[in-house]
Amino acid sequence: MSVSVPGIVPQTTPIEDRPTPAADADPHGHPVAGLDLDTLNPLFETSQPQQVVQWAAAQFGGDLVMSSSFGAESALLIHMATRFLPDVRIVWVDTGYLFPETHAFMEDLRHRFNLNVWVYRTRNDPIAYLQQAGETDPSWRNDVDACCAANKNEPFERAMRQLAPRAWLRGIRRRQAKTRENVPFVEWSRRYNCYAVSPLLNWTPKDIFGYMKEHGLPYHPLYEQGYESIGCNPASCTQPIQAGDDPRAGRWAGRGKVECGINLTNSLDSANL
Ligand code: SF4
Repeated sequence: MSVSVPGIVPQTTPIEDRPTPAADADPHGHPVAGLDLDTLNPLFETSQPQQVVQWAAAQFGGDLVMSSSFGAESALLIHMATRFLPDVRIVWVDTGYLFPETHAFMEDLRHRFNLNVWVYRTRNDPIAYLQQAGETDPSWRNDVDACCAANKNEPFERAMRQLAPRAWLRGIRRRQAKTRENVPFVEWSRRYNCYAVSPLLNWTPKDIFGYMKEHGLPYHPLYEQGYESIGCNPASCTQPIQAGDDPRAGRWAGRGKVECGINLTNSLDSANL
């Protein structure tokens, strides 16, 4: 497929025609080395996120999925993606411990933009999980990594196995965490056997605010209450922050944990659950 996006040199040779060593083909048969990432990534460093999304939509078409937490600013990437791929599959993981407001926000955006949301739920009954894990306080998790592995990573890994996309669009930004500082715009994910495309890497809070305002997009209903990064409802996992705090300071505060795990290169052992 020839891809034409202003300002971006197209990958003119179809992926399938590129010489790809058989050993680098993934289990789905997708060529690992099909794209010239050494050319693309420097271009994307000076591109606007909309151009990267447009490129991804043209390059992968219906073989692209995106993930969304339906969190504070999630409407932004959803808006960008659906402008180019209105029916893009959106994977949303329901851990069983989300805020009711997050469910309501997902339904609001689903209705408003006619979204194609694929909900992947934890295999665990939320109450039974707490009992099995020895967690005695529903409003607090002692072992956050085990809980994220069982209730967040397992459903997401299952989604990626079942949907088997060629590319995954995600909304991470470099300023959000040390684990995200060196992420390239497009990289091959061996964990998920697809390309990971991250158009928003270099955007600042000001950029985000400007786009949200320009397009009249809604924030998560808890955003106004100081929740700038919104995950699950236990206080161990999501808390409101004060003015001037790091936007993600309320996530697993004081635990030394900065990622639920789905954006990490390696699994949080959910495969063993
Ligand atoms: S964010 Fe908290 S409640 Fe949600 S899966 Fe992770 S540890 Fe469990």
